[in-house]
Amino acid sequence: MSSTLPDLETLRAMGPAQQPTYPDREAVDAAVTRLSSMPPLVFAGECDDLTEKMAAVSRGEAFLLQGGDCAETFEGVTADNVRNKLRTLLQMAVVLTYGGSMPVVKLGRMAGQYAKPRSSDLETRVVDGESITLPAYRGDAVNGFEFTAASRIPDPHRLLDVYNASAATLNLVRAFVTGGYADLRQVHTWNTDFVRGSVVGQRYEQLASEIDKAMSFMTAIGISPEELRRVDFHSSHEALLLEYEHAMTRIDSRTERPYNVSGHFVWIGERTRQLDGAHVEYFRHIRNPIGCKLGPSATADDALALAARLNPDNEPGRLTFITRFGAGKIRDGLPGLVEKVTAEGVSVAWVCDPMHGNTFEASNGFKTRRFEDVVGEVQGFFDVHRSLGTVPGGILVEMTGDDVTEVIGGGEELTEAGLAHRYESVVDPRLNRVQSLELAFHVAEMLRA
Ligand code: PEP
Ligand code: MN
Repeated sequence: MSSTLPDLETLRAMGPAQQPTYPDREAVDAAVTRLSSMPPLVFAGECDDLTEKMAAVSRGEAFLLQGGDCAETFEGVTADNVRNKLRTLLQMAVVLTYGGSMPVVKLGRMAGQYAKPRSSDLETRVVDGESITLPAYRGDAVNGFEFTAASRIPDPHRLLDVYNASAATLNLVRAFVTGGYADLRQVHTWNTDFVRGSVVGQRYEQLASEIDKAMSFMTAIGISPEELRRVDFHSSHEALLLEYEHAMTRIDSRTERPYNVSGHFVWIGERTRQLDGAHVEYFRHIRNPIGCKLGPSATADDALALAARLNPDNEPGRLTFITRFGAGKIRDGLPGLVEKVTAEGVSVAWVCDPMHGNTFEASNGFKTRRFEDVVGEVQGFFDVHRSLGTVPGGILVEMTGDDVTEVIGGGEELTEAGLAHRYESVVDPRLNRVQSLELAFHVAEMLRA
């Protein structure tokens, strides 16, 4: 296999999908040059560690919990926001680990998730009775969310802002996970007042007390492993903007192979997985563990061809297929893919994204999802894999650590009318903190079954 990374011009000449049209090419080149000399955000060895963990996931020896915003924003890079998200992920991981008796690989959809593919290049809104059409918002990496002509112009300086925002986020996350915040003895303190008042919060309290007891027992008999004090946490994002991703790719001095050093795990989206496209061409050369989304239009042959391209040596842990069918389609659509891929002996981790096949517009115009559909798709995913004797490896969820109102249903029975209360997502609706925890309890039960 060739380890020579194609140059940016080669990728550009392939006409990559979903790229911004920048008005000023020189400014783009300047940003790329600057990024190319910036220090790595993650290290190649850390990426290799994650590949090994993903290999364990593919064998059913660990479960992947991948979560975070649909689209991070620069404004969202605050200590509170990052901590709340991390805390919720840690709570979910504890529920899965303890409730499901399974090691959990924790992967933030964080510190780099700033670029969004869009189904339409344009967005039309009625402003003061007048219909106005502007370029679509493509994530803070590209343009501004504000609905004005000036804000929607793609600005290449934002690529450097992505680097800085990712560095700040990752720095804080690293401090939290190694500095004691993620210590299992803090398991109670992650449950703040707001959650404690909910039914699921009380359920968590009970589980945390059981963990406390188990830890007191271990301390009493003289066991105090380092594993209790710190957790492994990795970062991930959709590697969409080839200018940024290519500039953030470095040749590792140990192996002399290219790694994307802007995140540990990167994935190819549903809209950019064309077999002969520039994204697949870029991804097949980097050595990170990688994901590829597969929606209802993907055939088993597509999956096989992608696996052959992206993981020609069939290396365990290298490739993850993230399926996103929708609750109503997964039971019909998934078996064919899994059966054929498995029959061909392809090594892959299967992960369920129960979000992107379940989005719809509520009667009051909000883009939303039903909590019951999210749980339903994960249940379908487990049922399909269990019936085929294959491994349901994990979940990828869009979630936040805040009390937002973006997804309807769940134990707190959020209604369509309630969406307006605190809808903050700039792109897709996220599970709020209670819904995230609630989902973790459901999944823990599926793991146990
Ligand atoms: C996403 O993960 O936010 C996304 C755009 O997903 P997909 O590529 O599966 O549509
Ligand atoms: Mn999304």
